[in-house]
Amino acid sequence: MTVNAELHAGGNTWRSLPAAQQPDWPDQEALRDVIAELESYPPLVFAGECDQLRHRLGAVARGEAFLLQGGDCAEAFDAVGADQIRNKLKTLLQMGAVLTYAGSVPVVKVGRIAGQYSKPRSKPTETRDGVTLPTYRGDSVNGFAFTPEARTPDPQRLKRMYNASASTLNLVRAFTTGGYADLRQVHAWNQDFVKSSPSGQRYEALAREIDRAMNFMNACGVDPEEFKTVEFFSSHEALVLDYESALTRVDSRTGDLYDVSGHMVWIGERTRQLDGAHIEFASKIRNPIGVKLGPTTTPEDALTLIERLDPEREPGRLTFITRMGADKIRDKLPTLVEKVTASGAQVVWISDPMHGNTFEAASGHKTRRFDDVLDEVKGFFEVHKSLGTHPGGIHVELTGDDVTECVGGGDEIFVDDLHQRYETACDPRLNRSQSLDLAFLVAEMYRD
Ligand code: PEP
Ligand code: MN
Repeated sequence: MTVNAELHAGGNTWRSLPAAQQPDWPDQEALRDVIAELESYPPLVFAGECDQLRHRLGAVARGEAFLLQGGDCAEAFDAVGADQIRNKLKTLLQMGAVLTYAGSVPVVKVGRIAGQYSKPRSKPTETRDGVTLPTYRGDSVNGFAFTPEARTPDPQRLKRMYNASASTLNLVRAFTTGGYADLRQVHAWNQDFVKSSPSGQRYEALAREIDRAMNFMNACGVDPEEFKTVEFFSSHEALVLDYESALTRVDSRTGDLYDVSGHMVWIGERTRQLDGAHIEFASKIRNPIGVKLGPTTTPEDALTLIERLDPEREPGRLTFITRMGADKIRDKLPTLVEKVTASGAQVVWISDPMHGNTFEAASGHKTRRFDDVLDEVKGFFEVHKSLGTHPGGIHVELTGDDVTECVGGGDEIFVDDLHQRYETACDPRLNRSQSLDLAFLVAEMYRD
């Protein structure tokens, strides 16, 4: 079989199944041209890097590492400037350093970045002042502006998604390997946060401990290569299957299929139907796969997902991202974890404390309370502690900028502040200080 025939045999089996949340492209011929063009583009990531991430996640599954996954709810084509990318990365690296110290285990760092352009929506249309238009489905599909032109799905946007992902990844690779991400530098940023922000002062003791550890190593003359660069991976929701399968290639080393649009891809809460196209697509690729599990997930669903996506029971292959809500996590998680553990599967369990805790403020802003986010993570840790399983990590929506989208936090944002810098194209993100707050508080939990 030629490479292309293999690809079309394996990478396109999803086409005969129902695919939820796909754009209603008005021009199928234009879509076919775009797919053909995307198929000719070079990979954004290498298969070997995806394998490396799967190995790292294997360590998480065995309880020997922690996963930090975070970034925007939706990336936007007009927000790929160097400052925004750098601030996001800086925030994730700072969180990673705190968690590494507190947990005394490696922290696997994965961005919701360089590909997070497509959004599942709860309603297909939106009505304002009597006008009804298609809902915004992410920059890969249509525009955010409430006009018929912007809201009409345009497949040319899939090429912009590829280009925006490529330039973002290029900058991420430069920042993480070019000296900017040196651990001593990251530690200095954390010290700055602790010194200069009112919320940071609560973490002075932990920051001082880290400082002493750094000074000790320095005094011993330790200057390892590992301090100078950072391993950082990209991830996004594999939602628009025409895009994902156009970026799926046969690995020349092994003959296996990889979705080379990102290192890890996940299937969302709205597209994880067991007999649907998304799970079928994910079952054919070798990338590490995440699946979001909301409060309606039954243990049978979880076990079938394992059968479909991780039949070999390979630690690191499958990550379950639970997003139950702070009020449900302590109820819903224990049975799932128990049944999965009893089945012999070694999945990674991580907590997405954002998506089960969204509400609309009186001002009309979609928001989340920092305390609910924290409480869901706490519940997640409690459940794993009581079952003797590993709370493998967190999956958060954040930005490195000082936005006002979630309420609460040490430098408290009030409902009345939300309008000041509400910039998200989709869900509310933790801002820089709320993200660092969360990292220090999770670090304290990890040590308890
Ligand atoms: C998301 O991660 O932005 C998202 C839509 O999550 P979920 O599928 O869990 O609702
Ligand atoms: Mn979201």
